[in-house]
Amino acid sequence: MSKYKLDVKKIVRISALAVLFIASSTQLIACAKPPIEIITSEEMTKSETKKGTEIKMDSSKPEAGDKTAKKDDKYWKEKLDPETYNVTRCSATEPAFSGKYWNNHDKGEYRCSNCNELLFDSKDKFDSGTGWPSFTHTAGESVASKEDNTYGMKRTEVVCKHCGAHLGHLFNDGPKPGGNRYCINSASLQFEKKDK
Ligand SMILES: [Zn+2]
Repeated sequence: MSKYKLDVKKIVRISALAVLFIASSTQLIACAKPPIEIITSEEMTKSETKKGTEIKMDSSKPEAGDKTAKKDDKYWKEKLDPETYNVTRCSATEPAFSGKYWNNHDKGEYRCSNCNELLFDSKDKFDSGTGWPSFTHTAGESVASKEDNTYGMKRTEVVCKHCGAHLGHLFNDGPKPGGNRYCINSASLQFEKKDK
């Protein structure tokens, strides 16, 4: 009888471990992402001018005392709603024409949905026809770029330099003369309306 009880305990323990292992593996697969390496906007501008030039990585870290940027994945998972988490922390892309800002024409500032840093200004927003908020320029110094080779494509990912949130991608088919098109997920942004 006692032997039977021991076996049951053992089975329960092994099953619990198996469930934990599967759960953690699933999470890793759902959000497999290398640590974000950031290059500055200035370096990006330089590399943009030379087409085909390899993007240089910069290992600069957030400022000391920057509490928001140092939060771990568990923190973000608890703080953010699932869609915002998937887009900003797992580099997912929201469906075109689905976000809250692609058709927003109000004047104001677009800030990071994770840490509230200023990222874009409405004066630089344009109708790209893509279904995602599109900007020709960044505002402030908080948008950084990095090379993205996922899905067999060579693209330039843009992230919030302050907290590392994935924002979207930068393309070179935007309006002239600059030609930049920052294609950004609405889920990565929060809009602050300004009446000026
Ligand atoms: Zn941020």
